[in-house]
Amino acid sequence: MICVVGGGLAGLRVGYELKGNSVVFEATKIGGLLRSEEIDGFTFDTGGSHIIFSKDHEILQEMLNFVGDYVEHRRRAFIFYKGRLVKYPFENGIFSLPAQERFEILKDFVENLLKKKEEPKNLLEWFRYVFGNAITEKYLRPYNEKIWKRSLEEISLEWVGGRVPNPPIDDVLRASVGIETEGYTHQLRFFYPLSGGIETLAKNVAKKVDVRMEAVRKIELEDKIVVNGEYEFKKLVYTAPLKFLPSMLKEAREIEEEIKKLECNSIAVVGIGVKGKVPNVHWIYIPQEDIVFHRIAFLSNYSPNMAPKGCATIIAEISNPEKFSEDDVLEGLRKIGIENEVEVVKTWRWEHAYVVYDHEYRKNIERVKKFLIQRNIIPFGRFGAWEYLNMDAVWKKAKSVAYACSDGDTEQRQR
Ligand SMILES: Cc1cc2nc3c(=O)[nH]c(=O)nc-3n(C[C@H](O)[C@H](O)[C@H](O)COP(=O)(O)OP(=O)(O)OC[C@H]3O[C@@H](n4cnc5c(N)ncnc54)[C@H](O)[C@@H]3O)c2cc1C
Repeated sequence: MICVVGGGLAGLRVGYELKGNSVVFEATKIGGLLRSEEIDGFTFDTGGSHIIFSKDHEILQEMLNFVGDYVEHRRRAFIFYKGRLVKYPFENGIFSLPAQERFEILKDFVENLLKKKEEPKNLLEWFRYVFGNAITEKYLRPYNEKIWKRSLEEISLEWVGGRVPNPPIDDVLRASVGIETEGYTHQLRFFYPLSGGIETLAKNVAKKVDVRMEAVRKIELEDKIVVNGEYEFKKLVYTAPLKFLPSMLKEAREIEEEIKKLECNSIAVVGIGVKGKVPNVHWIYIPQEDIVFHRIAFLSNYSPNMAPKGCATIIAEISNPEKFSEDDVLEGLRKIGIENEVEVVKTWRWEHAYVVYDHEYRKNIERVKKFLIQRNIIPFGRFGAWEYLNMDAVWKKAKSVAYACSDGDTEQRQR
């Protein structure tokens, strides 16, 4: 038997892949970040806006099979820029800017292409290297500084790897002269559960897994792994946040310094249920400092079942969760033109939301992973392995994690 700590998507998926040879321990509620809550007919994804997409068609299909009934969309995402909605991603949306601004961006982009440049060493340099100064300063820098809450020079290039695609030069040129194009095409089509919000995916996986609603408080390393002084396992897959591990496992104090140095950002998610119509868009990025949230999503445009008839469900994500009030959020909505009558407002806070890839990240995480694997503890998941994983990556990796676990003894004994 294998012990899986954490019943978020990572833990549930490994539990599923281990086909009856595992017990998943969950401390609070199944689903982790994939939780949804219904209030007066409005359904909110409390861990922020989650859409289902993948470059890998097989993985995508597997996820959708678990969702059951779903809605398919062509993305309608925008950036709120100088009082107007610019199509996302910004470099593809330039076509909607005034001619003078398009010219400035195009001139800068072309000059940047012709310039001899040094290889970038951090995220800010990479943005300038690939997109030029104009796109960087108008959107990429303010938006990313808002979400990362630090200078982009502190973020390593490892974060970019495969996540932020280089814009095809043709796209920027076309957009600059006024032709509409599409970017980030791997996410252009996305899927969403027809009902129940994103939690539907986690819930349906959980139905096929042995989940125990019990927090793991203590892990002891004897010839077996002993959990909560009660259960014995051969191996353990750890998907809860690494920060909690030293308090459960005394040996982990040896790697406490490295764990402490792993950085992440927290968020607050504010759900707002409103009467009447909202813009026919999926989500909007907000780089402005005077608006408290960095993104709002219109969940009732993901699925009509997310709100009562004639109403709409909105969530706002805030990367500075310590410094805002719900009134600030409503004020921000008014600034972008959403003045509907509000029926419901509720806030959820997540200490662990975005993994930060600073320059020390690789060294620290490698030491932590090596230490744990040598002790038959496999770190996995967004904060169990401290990796910026989306759901499809979690889904895919769960197969190799389960495979790595599945040798040898499969018996769990009650002490
Ligand atoms: C704002 C935001 C938006 C996102 N949008 C998307 C998107 O659109 N598409 C996409 O594919 N991905 C998206 N993601 C990523 C997605 O949320 C993650 O890939 C996925 O939820 C990670 O699951 P996990 O199981 O690794 O972690 P978590 O969901 O954090 O699960 C960890 C679990 O461990 C449990 N736990 C903690 N301590 C203990 C303990 N002592 N004992 C037992 N259990 C414990 C927790 O209660 C929790 O349930 C987004 C993430 C964020 C933050």
